Amino acid sequence: MHRYGLVAVAASFMIVSPAAECAELLLSPPPDCRFAIGQRFDIRAALPGAGALTWSVTLDGVPLAASESRSGIWLRRDVSLSTPGAHRVKAEARDEQGAVVGSAEREIHAVAWQGREKTRAKNVILLVSDGMGVAHRVAARTFLFGIKNGRPGGFLEMETLPVTGMLATSSLSGLVTDSAAAGHALATGTKTANWMLGVFPDETPDRDDDNARVEQLPSLLARTRGMVMGLVTTAAVGDATPAAFFVHTGDRGSDGAITGAYLAAAREGVLRVVMGGGRKSFPPGPGGALESFSSLGFAVGYDATSLAGALKTRPQRLLGLFHDSHMSTSFDVQHRGDPNVVKNFPDQPSLETMTRAALAVLAPNPRGFCLLVEGANIDRQAHAADQERMVWEVLAFDRAVAAAMEFAHATNEDADPANDTLVIVVTDHETGGVVLPGVGDPARLGTRDYVRTFDTGGLPDAADANRDGFPDDPNPAHKPIIHFAAGPDRYEDWQPQPRPIPAAIAAAGRDRVVYPNGDRDGGTGVLLTGVIENSVPTGSVYSPALYAHTAVDVPVAAYGPGAAALAGARDNTDVFPAILRAVGGSSGTPR
Ligand SMILES: [Zn+2]
Repeated sequence: MHRYGLVAVAASFMIVSPAAECAELLLSPPPDCRFAIGQRFDIRAALPGAGALTWSVTLDGVPLAASESRSGIWLRRDVSLSTPGAHRVKAEARDEQGAVVGSAEREIHAVAWQGREKTRAKNVILLVSDGMGVAHRVAARTFLFGIKNGRPGGFLEMETLPVTGMLATSSLSGLVTDSAAAGHALATGTKTANWMLGVFPDETPDRDDDNARVEQLPSLLARTRGMVMGLVTTAAVGDATPAAFFVHTGDRGSDGAITGAYLAAAREGVLRVVMGGGRKSFPPGPGGALESFSSLGFAVGYDATSLAGALKTRPQRLLGLFHDSHMSTSFDVQHRGDPNVVKNFPDQPSLETMTRAALAVLAPNPRGFCLLVEGANIDRQAHAADQERMVWEVLAFDRAVAAAMEFAHATNEDADPANDTLVIVVTDHETGGVVLPGVGDPARLGTRDYVRTFDTGGLPDAADANRDGFPDDPNPAHKPIIHFAAGPDRYEDWQPQPRPIPAAIAAAGRDRVVYPNGDRDGGTGVLLTGVIENSVPTGSVYSPALYAHTAVDVPVAAYGPGAAALAGARDNTDVFPAILRAVGGSSGTPR
């Protein structure tokens, strides 16, 4: 499944006359793909609608045998490149008369990563703040520390890493990426179409099994270096970002495939820690995913208390499922709103607690580990245009960064150069079009002039007296205004919502029409008009009632061996080779 334009492309070039002009084949990998040396990928050629064909596909002039070939499709699984630089894939299809009816040619690239550098990373901690742009981070910092004499009253942990850069995030199919294509870029170093994980788009959107695949980081690091992997998220564990590191599917929503991919990686001994929400995808009982994980030796926790209990047994494998669906926001877990929001899951661990637990399980591995930590609810709360919950999620993520940095400082500053850790804090895309236009004026509450710009707003109030890393008051009198620009119409009074509540509503019908939700600030706020689609046909995967992702660059920060490769303006596909080079000990910065 995907929404890439290839179907239309295929249709247009199949209107070729029967006099057999040579058509351009559909060829995967996509143009300009860059792979790591040894990274496995598939080569796929297709001429949709053609009859019996004879194929000739070469890599650098050497003929390749097909793994499978059927009506117009030629597929070779698990190719890899062994020398750095440019490589050429050529494909040619002939009809029964021997006439060439289709051809295509493509340059792809290979990057070296195994080298001789002495200081290399044994461990990698990759923290992904889903949806967090620069403005989300500044907003959280300002809520927590305020502005003192014109300077930030403090900086977040993630802002103190020595290397910082900016990443471009567009996907193969859109200016604006989704979390699947962005996660795919981080996990594989290549671009794919939105909604896809570990595969490249093709002309058969209704079937997954024939897509060209590409190997992800955990598999490559396990095969070549014996590293193990853990994943921690505040989303359901099968959500797009963690799934991008394990599954090969054209549809990020294919829950069964994702749980199955995790289970396969666990059976191979690669995947050692899985923590987050999504208990629904792990049915109990004989033959269920839960039993399968248990039988592989995974200790299981369902809340913060049982997680702490499981850790006491010093498990080598750990499964934590703390919510049926996505985990609650820290704002709700901390009872800053209506405590009933978390009444069914009152004891959910924080992202920091999960991160520390994962590190405790993974650290003893003699060949090193790669831990993925996702702050997923930053994105979700930005989609909902919920400023306080979003700020709380950025701050909760920052506590997880602090835990990762504590671990890395200990390994990197001791006498042993062979146990070092690379920490990367990265965002997959910006969500919400967040801007910070000013400070709220309590005297103008409920009016359009509540938002005061420049010095009319003055400086915001902020305090964290108990130093727990969260503001004492989620609604200070002079609060920093967070505005969400990339969304539908909504009402806004800039005051906290006691419960999560949609900002806009999509009415059912053949065409869904979006309108502002009067139950949210309808009587107390002002109408803010939006910029995204106001009606989207039924069946679309877009949700026009939510605030959208945007294409603005996102921040990346790094500490540890190989961190310098991420300085400056880069693309999200540059993170993957930077990790490999840090682990493999190859110097330099591939462009
Ligand atoms: Zn999102």
